[in-house]
Amino acid sequence: MFTPIYGPVTSWRYGTSLGIDLIGDVSTCSFDCAYCQLGEIERKTQQRQIFVPTQEVIEALNAYAPWSVDIVTFSGSGEPTLAENLGEAIAAVKALTQKPVLVLSNATLLNQPDVRAALNQADRVSLKLDAPNRDLLRRINRPVPALSWEGILEGLHQFRRDYSGLLDIQTMLLSPWSPQQQQAYQDLIAQLHPHEIQLNTPTRPKPVGHQLDGRGNHHQGDRPYAVHQLKAVSREVLQEFAEHLQRAIAIPVRYAPSPH
Ligand code: SF4
Repeated sequence: MFTPIYGPVTSWRYGTSLGIDLIGDVSTCSFDCAYCQLGEIERKTQQRQIFVPTQEVIEALNAYAPWSVDIVTFSGSGEPTLAENLGEAIAAVKALTQKPVLVLSNATLLNQPDVRAALNQADRVSLKLDAPNRDLLRRINRPVPALSWEGILEGLHQFRRDYSGLLDIQTMLLSPWSPQQQQAYQDLIAQLHPHEIQLNTPTRPKPVGHQLDGRGNHHQGDRPYAVHQLKAVSREVLQEFAEHLQRAIAIPVRYAPSPH
């Protein structure tokens, strides 16, 4: 059964995190990433709407008081910026819990002023950037047709100019990149100048269908549902790329602790 609050989960990036899901029980995203832990996205769209009313979130959150977590994270069953009440919900959660708020976003709607205004209320935003070029974007993230590489880049730059909180870039590597791809990524990151880069690689197989527990990234052992195995890179590849980036652009890079 759907609840708009999940966890707390332990994140290698952010410590103990209570999850908030403004999307609901139908997975909804403007991407359909090859590695998505929600399974194949059920509703692929870039149209914003209200899926879960803010009041429902606040009522569910009250049951978790006193919120003994490091951070409250908006993520869940799809892309949080698709929720038109994201800004309202962030403000309400901050007022109630007095905890820092993080949003994990796929960065596809950042060229919309309302989306940037909503995210501006978060203390920290982690933006997905898995592809250094149009072709990889199409193959890894599989965006809805209305989205373009140029539009996503424009949104990233607009957001960078506006945002005064902590900005992270999260990047999932499914296979090693060529020197040209690495350079293109490095150039982009240097322009965006995030607080931190987080490199990751799939460590779990992808569910075939939508599984709500994919929200929490906490399932261990055998799963009671069908999965696809995913390509991943070795820890050495992540480490080498992290060290290269850190030397080249002097921005802190963290990478997942125990990938395959
Ligand atoms: S990984 Fe995130 S951005 Fe990609 S399809 Fe799943 S919910 Fe959407």
